[in-house]
Amino acid sequence: MSIVVVGSVAYDTVETPRERRERQLGGSASFFAVAARGRGPVRCVGVVGDDFRAEDLALLARHADIAGIRQVPGRSFHWSGRYHADLIERDTLATELGVFADFQPEIPASWRDAEYLFLANIHPALQAGVLDLMRSPRLVALDTMNLWIETTRDLLLAILRRVDVLLVNEGEARLLTGERSLARAAAAIRAMGPARVIVKKGEHGALFFGRDSVLAVPALVLDDVVDPTGAGDCFAGGFMGSLAEAGVGRDAPDAAFRQAMLDGTVTASFCPEGFSVEGLLRVDDAAYARRLAELKAMMVP
Ligand code: AMP
Repeated sequence: MSIVVVGSVAYDTVETPRERRERQLGGSASFFAVAARGRGPVRCVGVVGDDFRAEDLALLARHADIAGIRQVPGRSFHWSGRYHADLIERDTLATELGVFADFQPEIPASWRDAEYLFLANIHPALQAGVLDLMRSPRLVALDTMNLWIETTRDLLLAILRRVDVLLVNEGEARLLTGERSLARAAAAIRAMGPARVIVKKGEHGALFFGRDSVLAVPALVLDDVVDPTGAGDCFAGGFMGSLAEAGVGRDAPDAAFRQAMLDGTVTASFCPEGFSVEGLLRVDDAAYARRLAELKAMMVP
């Protein structure tokens, strides 16, 4: 079943202790689309400027339908960040919205019946604009970040009432709710709308808070981390792709979401092994199956 995603399609300038990469392909929708590939048609909605390279659009087009990405005069969204020595903490150096500043999302008519909608991290007004255009998706999930929680809180709260699954990291869950305990934060978020909440904890894995169950999934232990940018979006791509492939909708029991948590975790594990989407592109069925087995072995006594 098909998935529509709206989010940033961006250029990222990333500095790690070992290397600096200028204006490489990034953005929440780009990572999501490449991560979800092969699990059902993925349809991207976004905007890029006239500085966006044809080869990057071609790369995205190999994995997703990009008829919803408009190219307009101006600069593409640009994010720049510097990682600390631990390759976990990072400082955002710049967020330049560029053409996203006055983007009005439009969705090809034939996409409005898509069963799954992922509102990747972008201004909540854009997320709402896309949600308004969809007919009746079986499941809507949303990701957000500190910037939007702090600067557009009311818009975010309004859209959360219409969302089934919220994906956030620990800090965002606490910022959104004012609760220190993640259990309390998840309960507070569920009271805001989403029946299910996923709290991403980076190298410590992810927690799933469902209707009547909690699941903790560890992260795979990687030999080498090159660039963790986008891992959260890749988790979301693996998670939503898994749900779409299995046809799991909002009314399914929590148990149906557990396999998706594993798929999100395995998919995300490939992202930090390369810059941009390079790690993801190296995944094949055999590598995926090995890692899934490794993850399962980590979870049983
Ligand atoms: P993550 O590492 O999962 O937080 O995702 C990083 C990606 O999010 C990068 O590719 C950025 O281009 C994108 N990004 C960073 N800040 C924003 C923002 N304010 N809005 C939308 N996308 C963003």
